[in-house]
Amino acid sequence: MDTDNFTFLPPLVMLIFAGAYLLVWFYGSRVAIWWALGFFGHAVAFAGEVAFQPLGDQMRTLLVDAVFLLSYFALSQGLSAHFGQRLQMGRRIALALIGFGLVAYAIFVAESLRSELLAVDLTCGLLLLIPIARLGGWPRQMVGRVLVVLAVMTTLDFVGRSLVFAAMAPADSSFATYATSFYAYAAQVSGTLIGLSFALVGLGAVALDVLDRYRDTAETDYLTGLLNRRGFENMTLAHIDRMSEGAVILCDIDRFKRINDLYGHSAGDGVIAGFAALLKHALPPTAHAARFGGEEFVVFLPAYSKMECVRVAETIREAFGETDLSMIGIQDPVTASFGIASIRTGDRSIHAAISRADARMYVAKSTGRNRVVADDTSESVPVVPAPKVSAAA
Ligand code: GH3
Ligand code: MG
Ligand code: MG
Repeated sequence: MDTDNFTFLPPLVMLIFAGAYLLVWFYGSRVAIWWALGFFGHAVAFAGEVAFQPLGDQMRTLLVDAVFLLSYFALSQGLSAHFGQRLQMGRRIALALIGFGLVAYAIFVAESLRSELLAVDLTCGLLLLIPIARLGGWPRQMVGRVLVVLAVMTTLDFVGRSLVFAAMAPADSSFATYATSFYAYAAQVSGTLIGLSFALVGLGAVALDVLDRYRDTAETDYLTGLLNRRGFENMTLAHIDRMSEGAVILCDIDRFKRINDLYGHSAGDGVIAGFAALLKHALPPTAHAARFGGEEFVVFLPAYSKMECVRVAETIREAFGETDLSMIGIQDPVTASFGIASIRTGDRSIHAAISRADARMYVAKSTGRNRVVADDTSESVPVVPAPKVSAAA
């Protein structure tokens, strides 16, 4: 029969999706395992409509419903994980168990197909709504928004068809004749369309998450957690409109080779990490800080004047010079030098300001280190002297 051939299609399609999610899971998305389970469950449930027939109508319906409930439990977890919510499994398990209890009651006690459909559809719909209800507002990313719309559509589809069926189905609708009913047909068509869209968008969402993670890793410095040079370049491209004003600070730890030589490379790493931690703590949230190489750092402060940057750099210089490094076995004070330049009209890129800051840092190094030197011809700023701690010679 034609329809028999068709019944293999939905489980097969769901199985293919489950496989695709497993692949994304394999490539580093922890979230994707929930989606894989959800769509694998769909495949089993769709196949079960036929495969469980020898068990009798009631047992078949109970098993298929149980698998559907598990699937929607998994999809609900997947949505929560995608939106970065804590996975409150307890609530979802309780809801699924209540749904299962009602389904069992409807099948074996009330022997009512209407109640069974209402119980399973409403519970699945509610499971999907949990992560949506916990969202504070629209997700920032487009793919998240589409997921919200599809989850709500799925729930409305469930609720709508349960109510339509409850209102319109003939009173003698039975579990045995369900498969050939108009309701089953409508449920299959709407469920397949929405389910496919949901599966595709979900797959896009988890795949994009993995790509984002790889990009973050490629743009982040492993030792300090700051941007690396590539990350800094990409940040400047992304904020090109904000690059016309502001200033850059170039920082370089003083006599760092000596620290490595005296205390070892790992102590040196500790100093670099400590300096980065200080930067993160002391810089305003609008700042973009990067480790450009070895013990050299670049900070871009959008909309900051050179004088404001001097103040920020001075705070960092003083705090760093006073940092107690005995925890990592370094007894001497360690200091850093800073060069500052503001972005000028006519600069072709931020690198013009970085080169000027580099030249200023050279002045800071050659005039004794542990100081802040700002780019300018104005007499008032260039060198911030009087370092409290002298660099270990
Ligand atoms: P100056 O005051 O002129 O800046 O002197 P310096 O010794 O700091 O100058 P230089 O830039 O020549 O030395 C940087 C040293 O940093 C050289 C290199 O061995 C070391 N270095 C580079 N990357 C790392 C790193 O990731 N960890 C450690 N521990 N050392 C590094
Ligand atoms: Mg140095
Ligand atoms: Mg250096």
